[in-house]
Amino acid sequence: MSHTCDILIVGGGVLGVSIAFHLAQRRAGRVVLVEKAYLGAGASGKSPALIYQAHRHAPTAALARRCLPVYEHFSDLIGGPPVFWRTGMIQMTDRRDATEWDARLARHLALGIDVRRIDEQEMMEVDPNARLTEDELALFEREAGYVEPVLTVASFAEAARRAGADLREGVEVRALLADKGKIGGVETNEGTYVCGRLVLATGAWAEHLPKSVKLEVPVEAHRVQAALFRRPAGSGRRGAVFADFVQGLYVRPAQGDLLHVGELTPLQSDEVVDPDSYDEAAAGEWLPSIRQRLIRRCPAMYCCYGRGGYALLSAHAPDGLPILDRLPGLEGAFCAAGFGSENFLLAPLVGQAMSQWIVDNSVADVDLSPYALARFGAEENPSNEASADASKA
Ligand SMILES: Cc1cc2nc3c(=O)[nH]c(=O)nc-3n(C[C@H](O)[C@H](O)[C@H](O)COP(=O)(O)OP(=O)(O)OC[C@H]3O[C@@H](n4cnc5c(N)ncnc54)[C@H](O)[C@@H]3O)c2cc1C
Repeated sequence: MSHTCDILIVGGGVLGVSIAFHLAQRRAGRVVLVEKAYLGAGASGKSPALIYQAHRHAPTAALARRCLPVYEHFSDLIGGPPVFWRTGMIQMTDRRDATEWDARLARHLALGIDVRRIDEQEMMEVDPNARLTEDELALFEREAGYVEPVLTVASFAEAARRAGADLREGVEVRALLADKGKIGGVETNEGTYVCGRLVLATGAWAEHLPKSVKLEVPVEAHRVQAALFRRPAGSGRRGAVFADFVQGLYVRPAQGDLLHVGELTPLQSDEVVDPDSYDEAAAGEWLPSIRQRLIRRCPAMYCCYGRGGYALLSAHAPDGLPILDRLPGLEGAFCAAGFGSENFLLAPLVGQAMSQWIVDNSVADVDLSPYALARFGAEENPSNEASADASKA
C-alpha cells in the first residue's frame, strides 16, 4: 500500500509533535507524522523535563530563554491544560568550579536570565530540605520549574491535529528512499510513504534511518536511570527542582508527594545501548545509591519511601548538543536529533525554526549554526547516487 504526503515527520516525541504542529499551523501542505509505538514512547514521555534557562551552553541558554514563555502560557499558545509548574531551580557544584561557574553566571546575566549565587541560608528559604556544604556553591534561577512531559506531548499533538496534521501511531519507518540525491519517501510496516520532504525526529534511534542511505548522524543511545520516592510526612512544602553536579543527581517534585530523582548524565557513559533492547527497569543495586545521594542533599528524606525506578534513553551527539540540520546529500531531508538529557525545553522554538526552514528554505530569527552536522566533519555530498541505489536495493 502506498501513502502520499508533502511532509513526513518520523518520531512522535516532543520534537516531532512540535514540528508537526508548527508545520500544520503554517499550512505547509499535507503533514503526516508517523510514530512506531505511541506518542511520547521515547525519552519525552519519561523525562523530568526541567525547564530552565541557565543552560551550560550559552547559545542554547539564549534559545531556552525564548521557550520559557511558551511553557508559561502553553494553554493560550498551544492549547490544553497548563503544563508548567514554577518552582525555581538550584544548581549546585563544587567550589573548585567557582571560576568557571562565575563566567557562566556572567554569560547568563548578559542574556537577561534572572540567576544568582545563593548561600545555604537563602537556599533553605527556597527549599527548606536542601543543604549546602562549605565546599559547594549554588546558583538559583527564580523563573525555572518543570513541565508535565506526557501532557506537553499530548497537547502539542492535539494542536497539530486541530491544525490539520495527520499523526499515526504504530507506523515504523524501516528505510529511507532516495531518488537521485532527493528524498522520495520511506518504507514502513504499512507500505511506502511518498513524501516531498522528510524530518527525522527519532531521538535515541537517530542514527538508524540515515544509515539506510549511507549517511551518518552521530547519535548514541545512553541508558539513564531514574527513581521515585514518596516524601515522608512532615517534610514540609514541596521545594525547588535542582541539579546537583556534586553528586550527579537531579530532583523534582512529581504527582502528589512523590519526588522524581535521577542521574545527571555525564557526556561519556558506559551505558551505550541498543535502543530496541535495553533494560527499562532500574537496577536493584542502583536504587539505594541514588537514595543515599538524595539524603545527603536533603537529610529530611532519610525516611522517604521507595517507589521503584525505571530507565530511559538519552540521545547523545559527541558534544552533547542537538543536531538540527539538513541531511547532507539528501535534498528535502532534515533531522532534529541528539537532544540528550537537557533539551526537552527547546521543543517550541525547534518546532518553529524547523518549520520555517522547511517551508521558507531559511530560518529568520534563530541561529541554528551551533547545531549543524558540519561540526562533526560531515560534508555536503551533492550527488547521492550511491545512496539512492543503496536505498532501492
Ligand atoms: C535522564 C534524562 C533527563 C532529562 N532531563 C531533561 C530536563 O530536565 N530538561 C529538558 O529540557 N530535557 C531533559 N531531557 C531531554 C529530553 O527528555 C529529550 O531530549 C527529549 O525528550 C527528546 O525528544 P525527542 O522527540 O527528540 O525524542 P523521543 O522522545 O525519544 O522521541 C523519538 C520517537 O521516535 C520514535 N521512532 C524512532 N525510530 C522510529 C522509526 N523508525 N519509525 C517511527 N518512529 C520512530 C520513537 O518511538 C520515539 O517515540 C532528559 C533526558 C533524559 C534521558
